Amino acid sequence: MGTNDEILKELLETDQLKFCFQCGVCTASCPMMELLPHHYNPRSLLQGLPFDPEKVMNGTAIWLCAWCYRCHRRCPQGLAVPELLLQMKDAAAERGHLEAFKEAQEIIKNEMPLPAVCTYICFNPLHGHVEKPQVAEALESFITEYERMIKGEEPPPITHDERIAIVGSGPAGLTAAWELAGKGYPVTVFECLPEAGGMPRRCIPEFRLPSKALDADIQRIENRGVDIRTGTKAPELDDLLEEGYQAVFVATGLHMSRRIGIAGEDLEGVFDVLGFLSGTKTGTRFDLGDKVVIIGGGNVAMDAARTVLRLGAKEAHIVCGESRQEMPAFGPEIEEAVKEGVVLHPARMPTRIIGANGRCTGVESLKCLSVLDPLGFFCPKVESGTESVVEADSIIVAIGMTLDPGILRAFKLAGRGTIIADPFSMETSRSIVFAGGDAVSGPASAMEAIIAGKRAATSIDKYLADRTEGS
Ligand SMILES: Cc1cc2nc3c(=O)[nH]c(=O)nc-3n(C[C@H](O)[C@H](O)[C@H](O)COP(=O)(O)OP(=O)(O)OC[C@H]3O[C@@H](n4cnc5c(N)ncnc54)[C@H](O)[C@@H]3O)c2cc1C
Ligand code: SF4
Ligand code: SF4
Repeated sequence: MGTNDEILKELLETDQLKFCFQCGVCTASCPMMELLPHHYNPRSLLQGLPFDPEKVMNGTAIWLCAWCYRCHRRCPQGLAVPELLLQMKDAAAERGHLEAFKEAQEIIKNEMPLPAVCTYICFNPLHGHVEKPQVAEALESFITEYERMIKGEEPPPITHDERIAIVGSGPAGLTAAWELAGKGYPVTVFECLPEAGGMPRRCIPEFRLPSKALDADIQRIENRGVDIRTGTKAPELDDLLEEGYQAVFVATGLHMSRRIGIAGEDLEGVFDVLGFLSGTKTGTRFDLGDKVVIIGGGNVAMDAARTVLRLGAKEAHIVCGESRQEMPAFGPEIEEAVKEGVVLHPARMPTRIIGANGRCTGVESLKCLSVLDPLGFFCPKVESGTESVVEADSIIVAIGMTLDPGILRAFKLAGRGTIIADPFSMETSRSIVFAGGDAVSGPASAMEAIIAGKRAATSIDKYLADRTEGS
C-alpha cells in the first residue's frame, strides 16, 4: 500500500472523515478562514484529504487550525476537525515533514495580530501530542526570531484626530488596538490589572503560555504607538465620551468564577478556579494538601488539575456531571491531563461539600444521568440512592465564568448575563460603544476574541469615516 493509502486508512479508521458531507458550516464559522482566507479553509482541506492526503499533509494549512472547536460545535455531523488535523500533524511529524510547519509559523508571525500568544495556545502542536523535539526547537526559534523582528519597529503615522478608548487588554482589546493603530488612530487601552494580556496573562498557566510570548506581543502593539494604561480601571462610559473619546470598544472578558451554589461552598479549603490560577501565577501559596478535587469538566478545570499536580499535590481528581463523552473539555486536553495522572469521575453531579472543623474534607455526588435538557439548558437528572464521596484536602470549583457586575449597568444583557452586541459589527445598544470577546460570546477562545477585536476595529473605522463624511 502506498503512503497516501496508509494515511487515508488511518484517517478513515477514526470513523469521522466519511461523515463529512461538505456542507461548509465549518468554513463559515472558522475564525482562521476570516483571518487568513488565502491560507486556510477547513472544508477545502477535508475535501482534498481523500484524494491526496499526502499533499494535504505536506501543506501549511494543517498547522493553521487554531484549536477553537467552533466548527465542531456547529458541524451538523459533529466532526472534530481539529482532531482530524491533529492526526495529520502527527503523521507529518512522524514522517519528518516539518517544513510546512515552519512556513506556517512565518505566516502567523507576519499576518496575525498576536502571533506569539497564538503560537503557544492556539497553534501549538505540542498541545496534542505531536511531541517531536524538532517541534519544540521550532517553537523556541520562533520566539527568538520574533523578539528580534519587533525590536526597533517604528510606529505608523497618526492620520486621524478621533481618539479611541478600549476597555480591557485581552486578545479582543489588544487586537482592536493593533488594527486601529495600524489605521492611524490614537488608541488608549485601559486595563485594571497590573499587567496587560487579559485572561492569558491572568490565568493561563506558565507551562502552557510563557510570559515572554505575551510580553513580545504586547511590546509589538506598543511599538504601534498604542497607550496601554495598566492598573487603571476604565472610567464610566459617559465619562469616557466626555473626555473626548469618539468611540469605545468594551472587551472586559469574564473575570468572576461562577459559584456552584451547594452546601459547604464557603468552607475553608474551597477555592474558586480563577482566584486559584491567577494566585498561582503571581506566587500565592495555596494550602492544597495531598488530594485535590476539581469540580467541573471543562478546559479550565483541566488546567487547574494539571497545575495542582505541578504544585506538588499527590492526587488531582475531576468530578463533573457530564459523562466522559459529554465533558466540555476538548478530547486531547482530557487525554493530556489523564496522562499526567489526573483521575476522572465523570457522570457524578456534586450535591454537597462536606467538611469537619470548618474545613472541607470531600465532595459528595450522585450518579448523573443527563446534564442538559433537550433544549440544551442546564437541568441535571440524577439517580437517588447513588451517593458517594471523593475525599479531598482541598477543592477547586471550576464550573464557568461570569461578567463583573460593575460594567453591566451600561448595557442591555442577554439572558445568560453577557453583553448584547451585533455579532458582525460588534455595535451595542449604546451608540458609539462596541463590545466583543468573551464578554459578548460567553467563555470562548483567544482566536474567537481576536476575530471580535478585528471586526470591532473594522466597524469603528467605518463608523468614524461615515460620520466624517456626513458632517
Ligand atoms: C484557565 C484558562 C485557560 C484558557 N486556555 C485557553 C487556550 O488554551 N486557548 C484559547 O484559545 N483560549 C483559552 N482560554 C480562553 C481565553 O483566555 C479567552 O477566551 C480570551 O482571553 C477572551 O479574550 P477577551 O479579550 O474577550 O477577554 P480577557 O482575555 O478576559 O480580557 C479582558 C480584560 O479586561 C480587563 N477588564 C475588565 N474590566 C475592566 C475595566 N472595567 N477596566 C479596565 N480593564 C478591565 C480584565 O482585567 C482583562 O484583562 C482560557 C481561559 C482560561 C480561564
Ligand atoms: S461542517 Fe462538518 S459536515 Fe460540514 S463540511 Fe465541515 S466538517 Fe463537513
Ligand atoms: S477548530 Fe477553529 S480554527 Fe480549527 S477549523 Fe475549527 S473553527 Fe477553524
